[in-house]
Amino acid sequence: MKKLLLLLLPALLLSAAPPAWAQAPAPAATAAPDPSRITLVIHGGAGTITRQNMTPEKEKAYTEALNQALQTGYAVLKRGGTSIEAVEATVRVMEDSPLFNAGKGAVFTHDGRNELDAAIMDGATLKAGSVAGVTTVRNPISAARAVMEKSEHVMLMGPGAEVFAKEKGLDIVEPSYFYTEARYQQLQKAIAAEKGAVTDQLNTPTKAAAPAAEPTKVKVKQKGGKPQGALEPPIFTEGRKYGTVGAVALDQYGNLAAATSTGGMTNKRYGRVGDAPIIGAGTYADNQSCAISCTGWGEFFIRATVARDIAARMEYGRAPLGTAAQATIDKVARLGGDGGLIGLDRQGNITMPFNSEGMYRGFIKANGQTQVLIYR
Ligand code: ASP
Repeated sequence: MKKLLLLLLPALLLSAAPPAWAQAPAPAATAAPDPSRITLVIHGGAGTITRQNMTPEKEKAYTEALNQALQTGYAVLKRGGTSIEAVEATVRVMEDSPLFNAGKGAVFTHDGRNELDAAIMDGATLKAGSVAGVTTVRNPISAARAVMEKSEHVMLMGPGAEVFAKEKGLDIVEPSYFYTEARYQQLQKAIAAEKGAVTDQLNTPTKAAAPAAEPTKVKVKQKGGKPQGALEPPIFTEGRKYGTVGAVALDQYGNLAAATSTGGMTNKRYGRVGDAPIIGAGTYADNQSCAISCTGWGEFFIRATVARDIAARMEYGRAPLGTAAQATIDKVARLGGDGGLIGLDRQGNITMPFNSEGMYRGFIKANGQTQVLIYR
């Protein structure tokens, strides 16, 4: 009998091993539980958010929603939940609120659809999951987590991601679930502004349209069409209130996690995907450095690999979190982009820099100390 067991042991051990596709854990640095270190930081998007264009009712609604999100994640961390559980729960609250550009309340594409992106990352293992362009998953952040934990992949997009989410038992809704009148009107304004942006024969944006976005040069020579170097109308013209949501957390085991969820940018088209679901651009977490979630003009955040850039400044250059984050946001500004981010390190240091006019943001610490901020 003993002999048989000894013979079978290697096979038993092998079958207990994780499947080959499981994302291999990094050398984790899980510490002894210490409830006094738990911290949660959130954002609800950056952009042209000023006191002048805010009403007391709107301000109250945002403050309440941000507080509710913080309390939800805090409860998870308090009862010994992991940072991954906390960021997912927190982001779900904001996805379910019509106030934010994520889940219900997401912005519209040029074709009048809501295409949602989300990502999540575990700082202890460097496991990550994301979805892009989903239209029927009620909580894209949960789909991202399912990709991380229940698939061999990091990123799934479009209809395939939706089939996967359904197979994993996630809440599937009609695309109309995401509709809000305010966002639809925002699209109409953006389309009108875009049309106004190309009125003269040379296809040059008129002053009246004065788009905030830099028009892009068309490099391809077109026969009989636009002359070489003609200007394309900017895709994103209206408002620049980004409204993406995100959370970063430190749990009592010393592990960091980050999550981001968004509808992207109003009037996006051609299957455009922003920074939020791209690991290292809008979302990143590594126990060796920090957890980051971004909001802003995604194209610039992708080009500057913002989230990973901050982590790298800390990891290789030994920069403190705040210094690293500011340097990277400054880089985004130099490129011509705007937005902001939230960051957290394993010591519980928090950073929330932005170069736009405002950013919905807040944090809660172990002792329950909470702060919610909107303006500069
Ligand atoms: N960063 C998002 C994107 O470009 C937009 C946002 O932050 O609201 O898709």
